[in-house]
Amino acid sequence: MNHRKLGTSGLHLSEIAYGNWITHGAQVDNDTAHACVHAALDVGITTFDTADVYSDTKAEMVLGQALKGVHRADIELCTKVCHPTGTGRNARGLSRKHIMEACHASLNRLQTDYIDIYYAHRFDATVSLEETFLAFSDLVRQGKVLYVGISEWTADQIAEGAILARELKVPLVASQPQYSMLWRVMEAEVVPACVREGIGQVVWSPLAQGILSGKYLPGQPMPEGSRASTAAGSPFMNKLAGQWLRTEVLEAITQLSSMASEVGLTLPQLAIAWVLQNPQVSSAIIGASKPEQVIENAKAAGIRLDREVMMQIDRVLEGLVERDPSKTG
Ligand code: NDP
Repeated sequence: MNHRKLGTSGLHLSEIAYGNWITHGAQVDNDTAHACVHAALDVGITTFDTADVYSDTKAEMVLGQALKGVHRADIELCTKVCHPTGTGRNARGLSRKHIMEACHASLNRLQTDYIDIYYAHRFDATVSLEETFLAFSDLVRQGKVLYVGISEWTADQIAEGAILARELKVPLVASQPQYSMLWRVMEAEVVPACVREGIGQVVWSPLAQGILSGKYLPGQPMPEGSRASTAAGSPFMNKLAGQWLRTEVLEAITQLSSMASEVGLTLPQLAIAWVLQNPQVSSAIIGASKPEQVIENAKAAGIRLDREVMMQIDRVLEGLVERDPSKTG
């Protein structure tokens, strides 16, 4: 496993990170979750990503248990705050009260004394940025948070946050946007704003939630046990299905599968290697419902794709790629 520097910070992340959204505490049982985490450690993944809101806070607990006994300094443990974690009026958002309480709750669930990267999961327009960044600053001074990140903020929001981060000496060094061959929304505005501020990209859903694994075939039923079949009917899956589980997208992906085998890769490996060709990407966070997926996908680390392969991918996906920066968030 290769490691990359996160933006201009001194922190190194594994090129491929492991995340537990949807899986831990929900789609997969705890034994499988632990097996995935151990497969990740075995292939050299050191960066782990979760959020307080995943599986109603259960995902952090499962990850904390699975990482028990691992030397803390050998891993980077990252989590997020903003989405509701309770019914109380203050159990959400980026107020000082919620950030402080959410951080303490995450530390307990993760069974750790500090978080390596603490992300604002979304922008909160109802709270002043001064209040939010002062809370982050205090957590950093207390040693409970080492670095701060934002997720799915627009370029303007990032620029505004960066001014306060500088004033309050908050190490704002990470941005966590969605990024894949199919979803390139971060490229036009978020990445240039981050480059100006020395912020690196830790990107999510490099397989477009498994669509870019090639297992969803045009005109065929969804594979049993797959994310699209287990979450079928949920609002987020309806959105995903409308966007990508369409014949024209799935036919293009079938062509990409053949291209991948021509260069000696599986399609998941090609898709993850594709996001890692972008030098602004510090790490790609993969999800997995089985340890075998972690082992297969981790082989994408360190792969260089020829210019011709990159151009061929663009030709196959012409007209199917989302690039509109207004889709951020
Ligand atoms: P991916 O795009 O990597 O999708 C992962 C899913 O694809 C797996 O759970 C599995 O689903 C399927 N899959 C993976 N590998 C293979 C394979 N080799 N063959 C076949 N199927 C495969 O990432 P996720 O969407 O899971 O997101 C990754 C992480 O990003 C999350 O865990 C979270 O940490 C972070 N994230 C952050 C967000 C944010 O707002 N900041 C939002 C969403 C995610 P299955 O087997 O069930 O079909």
